[in-house]
Amino acid sequence: MKFNKHAFITFGILGGLVLGFVIGQLVYSFAAPESRDFTAGVFKFIGTTFFMNLLKMVLVPLVLSSVVVGVASIGDPASLGKIGGYTILYYFSTMLIAVVIGIAVVSTIRPGEGIEQNVIAEGQEAYASEGATKRKAIEDRGEGGLWGAFENIAQQMIPSNPIGAAADFKILPLITFGILLGIVLTVIGEVGRPLLAVFEAIFAAMMRLVDWILWLAPLGVMFLVAYTVANLGSQQLIGPLVLYMLTVLIGLAFHGFVVLPLVLWIFGRANPFRYACQIRQALMTAFGTDSSSATLPVTIEAAKTYGGVSKRAAGFVLPLGATINMDGTALYEAVAVIFLFQCYGIPLGPTELAIIAFTATLAAIGAAGIPSAGLVTMVIVVQAVNTSLGSGTPHLPLAAVGVILGVDRILDMCRTTVNVWGDAVGAKIITRIAPDV
Ligand code: ASP
Repeated sequence: MKFNKHAFITFGILGGLVLGFVIGQLVYSFAAPESRDFTAGVFKFIGTTFFMNLLKMVLVPLVLSSVVVGVASIGDPASLGKIGGYTILYYFSTMLIAVVIGIAVVSTIRPGEGIEQNVIAEGQEAYASEGATKRKAIEDRGEGGLWGAFENIAQQMIPSNPIGAAADFKILPLITFGILLGIVLTVIGEVGRPLLAVFEAIFAAMMRLVDWILWLAPLGVMFLVAYTVANLGSQQLIGPLVLYMLTVLIGLAFHGFVVLPLVLWIFGRANPFRYACQIRQALMTAFGTDSSSATLPVTIEAAKTYGGVSKRAAGFVLPLGATINMDGTALYEAVAVIFLFQCYGIPLGPTELAIIAFTATLAAIGAAGIPSAGLVTMVIVVQAVNTSLGSGTPHLPLAAVGVILGVDRILDMCRTTVNVWGDAVGAKIITRIAPDV
């Protein structure tokens, strides 16, 4: 029988996820608190250094080369405009649908209403003892408000120094530069050929590297999941926040299992479940790493090699999607914010819900594809709602975020999987408009 590497790695990652849960739970249940923290730290170190960082290592050259090659293969700016237009339309509409689902689910289940005062007080304490860097990131986002969110996205789009952006690991400006470079290389024709050939070579080399790094995925995923579970412990899963977690999961499941498959089936004319199976390595890596960006190399590889996604769509839609298209995050932000307002007993009217729908989409676009990014940008939504409530009504303190801090990582794993699934569905749909010639 021929050795099937794809199946081997897939089962390896699956095994890694399960083992990670078991090991993490064992450490949580049996280790003393200090050694538990230490062991969890070691797990995080191994998973991050030897797997996540390797994936991130290929990210900058991979994104740039894939966008340049993808855009150049589309050819004329008019078709690029058409494909770009459809892509953005897809991103926005699916994110908006996700937010609406989130609002509907959390308003029906109302998980915040039964939360006791002591859980809220503990949450605020947890926020106060959270690392200063994270607190500052949260507060800065809050201060910027809505205009700050716009400003942040716009500034991220246009790099004044593409090499600086690459060095700072800023993906969005790199994509803008890549799109322009891809266009100009086709416009200048023959003279541009050698440079295009260089990018093609870089792209091929990076993809091969990803192929190699994937051998480490089972272990990498195992350590990362073990870290999360050892930190959290499955006891939390039956604590007071269980209904909140269930609400997020129901929303994500509905979006991931019903909405996105339907969209793919209708607009992409593809069998959603077969496609999900084909790109399963990307979905599992997203679940294990909590990061759409770190997963991007795997997403491109899986979508192109097994999912039948065209080079043009993969090169353009996936990198852009990994940074701006976040259905899971958008849904999560809506649920989390409304949940917190429910906890504090602050009623929200239709205006506030509309503001949440709009700002949660914006906040998800602004969130980077890294762990916990959604938690930080969520503050934009909180502040926008507080402003709309005016001075006569009680406001939600930023420290309220502490209530959901402890269970964020595990929900992050799930929303990141939906984020990556959304990107992959988009790429498959765009493949229909832009097949390889
Ligand atoms: N971790 C998510 C991602 O990388 C972003 C988030 O925190 O929601 O897609």
